[in-house]
Amino acid sequence: MKAVGYRCSVCRDEFSLEAVTYTCPADGGNLDVVLEIPAIAATTSPEKISSSRDHSIWRYLPLLPVEDPGFDRTPLRAVGWTPLFAPERLSRTVGLGDLWLKDDGRNPTASFKDRASAVVVARAREIGAETVATASTGNAGAALAGMAAAAGQPAVILAPKTAPPAKVAQLLIFGARVILVDGSYDQAFDLTLEASQALGWYCRNTGYNPFTVEGKKTAAYEICEQLAAAGASRGAPPNRWRSPEAVFVSVGDGNIITGLHKGFKDLLDLGWIDRLPRLFGVQAEGSAAVYNAFVAGETTIRPVRAETLADSISVDLPRDGLRALRAVRETGGAYVVVTDAEILAAIRTLAREAAVFAEPAGAAAYAGLAKAAVAGMVDPADQVVLLVTGSGLKDVRAGMQAAGEAVVLEPTLKALHRELERTGVR
Ligand SMILES: *Cc1c(COP(=O)(O)O)cnc(C)c1O
Ligand SMILES: [Zn+2]
Repeated sequence: MKAVGYRCSVCRDEFSLEAVTYTCPADGGNLDVVLEIPAIAATTSPEKISSSRDHSIWRYLPLLPVEDPGFDRTPLRAVGWTPLFAPERLSRTVGLGDLWLKDDGRNPTASFKDRASAVVVARAREIGAETVATASTGNAGAALAGMAAAAGQPAVILAPKTAPPAKVAQLLIFGARVILVDGSYDQAFDLTLEASQALGWYCRNTGYNPFTVEGKKTAAYEICEQLAAAGASRGAPPNRWRSPEAVFVSVGDGNIITGLHKGFKDLLDLGWIDRLPRLFGVQAEGSAAVYNAFVAGETTIRPVRAETLADSISVDLPRDGLRALRAVRETGGAYVVVTDAEILAAIRTLAREAAVFAEPAGAAAYAGLAKAAVAGMVDPADQVVLLVTGSGLKDVRAGMQAAGEAVVLEPTLKALHRELERTGVR
């Protein structure tokens, strides 16, 4: 076994993986999966993993608390190992010398959430769950629906009816049972808990099911492995990996930043990297519950009335807020907030200067980085990784809002000349 059990993030009590399914029975705290570090260190190594020809999250199977799920040559096996770009023009614009961009929009269902859903589907099969279910603002549901389709597993998704149409189409097209709730994500969340209990579904809810973090942590592994590969000259795979100075990611429920923290800590515990990067969480100004607690120096999270065009990070009560606060405090990072206008501008900048089309929540991370750089929160010499969590095709309406409209002309050269002159383009 690769995991010792769970440890409660609140009371620190430990439980076996068989004894508990979701959260701490005493206080409802989120559970961390505790890995069997010495056993893992004895059987695998950075070199071994770096020579794997599996270019997906499953190259890290020795560090995941599930067995090989099978389904080879399906999208379930194509999750992760997303490109780490070195966007030079964007670096210059933001005034950093060593900026990297990890594009997680290039996952099978076009968001970071595939990492979590793939591992949850693997876990569901291990425990013999018949149906998997989740509440979602859109992406978690699309990811679960897609991964469930790859595995032939029935899935139920509850999302707010305000989810962007492309995301709703994705939920439906994979054959999941889709319920749009006439209410908020938070209401869909609570209903999914109740329904899962009443109907025996295996619930993937973010900040509730401990296996989502185990999938999300793979992004931290990839960052360290890919940076090592980029830094190493040709030849043998490196025997240590490399962690950057800082990572920027957007935060809604706080489960992604918690997963990154877990991933970097696993590698530090294994001795495969020598320090944790500073983690920076970016929230929308209109959905800033974790940011609020961070700046007030508090350890409890007060819910807000979330309102932002970045639907993927629009959350009243972050379900993984405590661990998300810790991820930033324990690594010496910070929380930053950005406005919807800054998010729209960031969509444009990312596309024009790095050729990456992000959905609003993905671009928010860049808007936050730009602010943090101006405020001197990162050093221009720092190696910084920007995590873009979702594709712009997920929310075409926001993309159009950022890009503006195209002109329509009669199809003649004369009309084209006139238009080019008018706009000063040659
Ligand atoms: C879910 C999501 C986030 C935020 O993740 P949390 O775990 O809720 O903090 C950010 N960006 C995208 C595209 C997402 O789908
Ligand atoms: Zn507890």
